[in-house]
Amino acid sequence: MTPGWAHDPAVLARVALGVIGLGVVTFALLLFVTAPYGRHARGGWGPTIPSRLVWVVMESPSVLVFAAAFFTGPAASLPVHFVFFALWMLHYVHRTYVFPFRIRAGGKRTPVVVGFLALLFTSVNGWMNGAWVGGVGPYAQGWFADPRCVAGVALFLLGWGINLHADTVLIRLRAPGETGYKIPVGGLYRYVTCPNYFGEILEWAGWAIATWSLPGLAFALYTVANLAPRALTHHAWYREEFPDYPPERKALVPFVV
Ligand code: NDP
Repeated sequence: MTPGWAHDPAVLARVALGVIGLGVVTFALLLFVTAPYGRHARGGWGPTIPSRLVWVVMESPSVLVFAAAFFTGPAASLPVHFVFFALWMLHYVHRTYVFPFRIRAGGKRTPVVVGFLALLFTSVNGWMNGAWVGGVGPYAQGWFADPRCVAGVALFLLGWGINLHADTVLIRLRAPGETGYKIPVGGLYRYVTCPNYFGEILEWAGWAIATWSLPGLAFALYTVANLAPRALTHHAWYREEFPDYPPERKALVPFVV
């Protein structure tokens, strides 16, 4: 049976290439303009809404669109495809419906435009990845034992653990009601300023390898394009804000940058 356009490999490949192109533009832009949320929030970006709400709304397509694209795919019920579904949801159910209620956001707000652009991205990204692992990806039962799948899943889980631990350290820096910033310590904070971003990048690199797909690669590259400039900005901010900031700490990748 010919797949509908939403599960057509040629359509998904074109969209993934478009996302890679968008990643190049995003990377270049973010080197000059810091996304105005969190510690880098500032006026002049239009109306704002509570940050917690923005997280839930902008990440919801990562769960809902992904699930819709996956379950309407022709191979959604096969075990190897379902493992990919479970991995994705392991990350995104937490990110969308748990993480926003764990952060100590106080009354912080985020510009609507930031949430809207993210919502567009997560919709396209949820669709292309969900459609791919829901049936477009030609995975045989033996894919479980393929070194790409084994190494990719291991990298994904390692990145997930690093990301979750690093975010938890940050969350615990604040008592309820506090909104200020302290120097995080412990775990990979010994080596880098943004282990949460480092873990996130490892996760999606692992996803790209395990799914061996253009949509997976596009998302991994976009994550680097989005988070690497922000890690550099966070790093410069800590150095400016805290004269006693550990001098040996790198920004994103231990011992490298
Ligand atoms: P940040 O590290 O900037 O902040 C995470 C949370 O910790 C925020 O609530 C922040 O508060 C708080 N926090 C950060 N530093 C400190 C500190 N020194 N002292 C006290 N509290 C602190 O991460 P993001 O908000 O940018 O991202 C959150 C998660 O989402 C990360 O896991 C990231 O990897 C992921 N993400 C993934 C993206 C992708 O492209 N795949 C894109 C963006 C995020 P406040 O908000 O008040 O600064």
